Amino acid sequence: MDFTLSEMHRQAAEVVRRFAQTEVAPTIREWDRRHEMNPAILPRMAELGLLGICIPARYGGQGFDYITLGLVCEELERVDTSLRVVMSVHVGLCSLALLQWGSEEQKQRFLVPQARGEKIGAYALTEPGHGSDAAHLETSARRRGDVYILNGEKMWISLANKADHFLLFARTNPEAANAADGISAFMVTRDMKGVTTGDIHGKLGVRAGSTGWIALQDVEVPLENRLGEEGEGFKIAMSALDNGRYTVAAGATGLIRACLEESLAYARERRTFGKPIAEHQLIKQKLAYMALWYDTARLLYLRVGWMKNQGLRNTRETSQAKWYATEHSVKAALEAVQIHGAYGYSDEYNVERYLRNSKGAVIYEGTSEIHQLMQADYALGIRRDRPLRCELPAYDAEAWQQSS
Ligand SMILES: Cc1cc2nc3c(=O)[nH]c(=O)nc-3n(C[C@H](O)[C@H](O)[C@H](O)COP(=O)(O)OP(=O)(O)OC[C@H]3O[C@@H](n4cnc5c(N)ncnc54)[C@H](O)[C@@H]3O)c2cc1C
Repeated sequence: MDFTLSEMHRQAAEVVRRFAQTEVAPTIREWDRRHEMNPAILPRMAELGLLGICIPARYGGQGFDYITLGLVCEELERVDTSLRVVMSVHVGLCSLALLQWGSEEQKQRFLVPQARGEKIGAYALTEPGHGSDAAHLETSARRRGDVYILNGEKMWISLANKADHFLLFARTNPEAANAADGISAFMVTRDMKGVTTGDIHGKLGVRAGSTGWIALQDVEVPLENRLGEEGEGFKIAMSALDNGRYTVAAGATGLIRACLEESLAYARERRTFGKPIAEHQLIKQKLAYMALWYDTARLLYLRVGWMKNQGLRNTRETSQAKWYATEHSVKAALEAVQIHGAYGYSDEYNVERYLRNSKGAVIYEGTSEIHQLMQADYALGIRRDRPLRCELPAYDAEAWQQSS
């Protein structure tokens, strides 16, 4: 078993680390305080090729593998969660779903501009009344000739107020015996008549990011914007989460690393009772746990990246990586604040932001409770993955780097 990262992996991580450290870290506290997303972020991420990092070059991407996607997310969230959220919704949830399920025509129309960073994608599943229980979503899509008429509201949607394309889920068959079988997936665009969006204010964390709502009033969505077949939407939504959750796991690993690195620096410098606090055993214990959580979370997400590269189904492993990394990023952030004492309680240091940001990830893309239920059901043999009509393609370096 070879755990070595390739030169390509190391270089990509290094470029992203430099970008995040030099261009984002110096001002992130100010944007977080203002509850605003720095408008320079999306264009700069596009320029660096991050918005199409693991999309084949023939679809406008950079042709890197899925492991690189994870490493990029780790480096971005090492500095701020809002950066990684962009990767999760634009690349993980939207673009990779298009790569997996889209027709050639849909890939040309939606995936190519997204991979080039000319258009931003988002993922709209959650509604005011339905989060974990997404199978019972209420947004309706009524077929009328060659269009569907969409009505409803989506809530808690990352980049709702910034994105151009929404991978959006709506009910096409209210009579389906199984609620999940009555859902279809659509590519809705911001310029469609009847689409309005807004920001949600007063969030605990990810304040330098954008989270909002989408209202749909008699929105006419052409038939050719339906992704997959009618009734296949729930499967598409869940398979997209296999990709989104991978990015969340990798990002949360970066958050653990941020907590560890900043706690190490502070513990070496801060002195109590005549010595650096790093020499007190109780502080050492916290640092030891954080180092263990980091390595474990990293191994779990890299295993998923490897499985994706091989084209292996990874729903169980992705859920495990996401559950572990996010839960332990909350723990690491709590310990980091504790190590910083009163200074950790103010935004003079980053750790209070890490703590606020960490809490979102144990809620979105499957709450920790939902992941525990999934893991128990896999362990009990109650839950088994069935093959999908369209699988995420395995990574093929040669094919992915060919531009036509
Ligand atoms: C910052 C942020 C960004 C987000 N971005 C997006 C996005 O881009 N797109 C999108 O579609 N959604 C997004 N979401 C929504 C997110 O996916 C939902 O919040 C999440 O799925 C949980 O749903 P809920 O909030 O409705 O909680 P609920 O489903 O109402 O759950 C409430 C509580 O009950 C628990 N619970 C629910 N069911 C069970 C059960 N069967 N057994 C045990 N406990 C249970 C939950 O774990 C939770 O603790 C985002 C949320 C946040 C906070």
